[in-house]
Amino acid sequence: MTTAFIVNSGSSSIKWELVDVESERRVRGGIVERIGEPGAAADHAEAMRGILGELGGEHPSVIGHRVVHGGSRFTTATLVTDEVEAAIEALSALAPLHNPPNLAGIRAARVAFPGVANVAVFDTAFHQSLPPAAYTYAIDSAVAHEHSIRRYGFHGTSYQYVSRRAAALLSRPLEQLKLIVFHLGNGASVAAIDGGRSVDTSMGMTPLEGLVMGTRSGDLDAGILFHLGRAGHTLPELDAMLNRRSGLLGVGGSGDLRDIQAAAGSGDAAAALALDVYHHRLRHYLGAYLVQLGGADAIVFTAGVGENSAPTRAAAVSGLGWLGIELDDARNDLRSRDARVISTDASPVAILVVPTNEELEIARQAIALVR
Ligand code: AMP
Repeated sequence: MTTAFIVNSGSSSIKWELVDVESERRVRGGIVERIGEPGAAADHAEAMRGILGELGGEHPSVIGHRVVHGGSRFTTATLVTDEVEAAIEALSALAPLHNPPNLAGIRAARVAFPGVANVAVFDTAFHQSLPPAAYTYAIDSAVAHEHSIRRYGFHGTSYQYVSRRAAALLSRPLEQLKLIVFHLGNGASVAAIDGGRSVDTSMGMTPLEGLVMGTRSGDLDAGILFHLGRAGHTLPELDAMLNRRSGLLGVGGSGDLRDIQAAAGSGDAAAALALDVYHHRLRHYLGAYLVQLGGADAIVFTAGVGENSAPTRAAAVSGLGWLGIELDDARNDLRSRDARVISTDASPVAILVVPTNEELEIARQAIALVR
């Protein structure tokens, strides 16, 4: 059996999966949590040694690592060398919460699995095809250049997997398709994908911009920050406010969409408002990307909310028959784990649900690189 070992290393946890490369099936997987806390693994190196034990002698052909920020440098999956490690470390300035723990996972794997190739797969890489018009913020260009300020976009690994799977479901070449893909999970973003290339996306320099998320605000007027700053809020307070206490949680009292839907259903006005704002933003981007792409062949929903919440999908595309977007309510309501069409047969724009599989996409890219 040829296997790829996939690592998603966070600040206090390592999620891992062993994937059989031929069948593309998950062989086993797990999560080590509370790294650094009393009674748990002291650090990422110790956690990785524990995982090595759980692999039961299985020797992976390649190790694929999820890395959040690849900046403007990494446009594709990349073999890890000392120099690449240093580059990922330098990019920590752009993703201070994510790149350092990603790097800790890479370093631990290189020690625990000597002689096995490590491949870094970046969340940002897929969006390096964005045109300057889409990635440039209209600020002082000297400041933007000095601080690497531009839109990078995230969830790229998911978009790559989902767009290819959507093309297969439609039995059409990806190169000929215009897709709008909503990745709606705890973090949420949307991408306009033309011929398999990302041409616009809602997350920006950081994963804070764009859609309303569980605890993140998404788009807002930057003037709000000056206003709050003048009122005495510090930068760390504003960071925590917008990243951890905003979004559905900030408006509706819970960061979990299921809670919000239930509360709104039983008459909670704040939850109902949170739901309305969430849907309004989805439709805002759907309209924008239909225009940027000049129409679409399919609208695709993925991740926790996109795959499971029929009401959210219905709200996002309701009343758009005049644009050729027509949901089939019975198909939308059917629960399934399979990729599926949920539009009517007559709808010129297909609407799809495609479960994402970022681990498999990382495995595919990692194995392709070493073969
Ligand atoms: P993810 O980050 O892709 O794992 O998505 C997790 C999020 O999906 C959770 O926070 C939930 O809010 C949301 N979710 C999962 N199942 C449902 C559902 N049936 N209805 C609404 N939201 C859901």
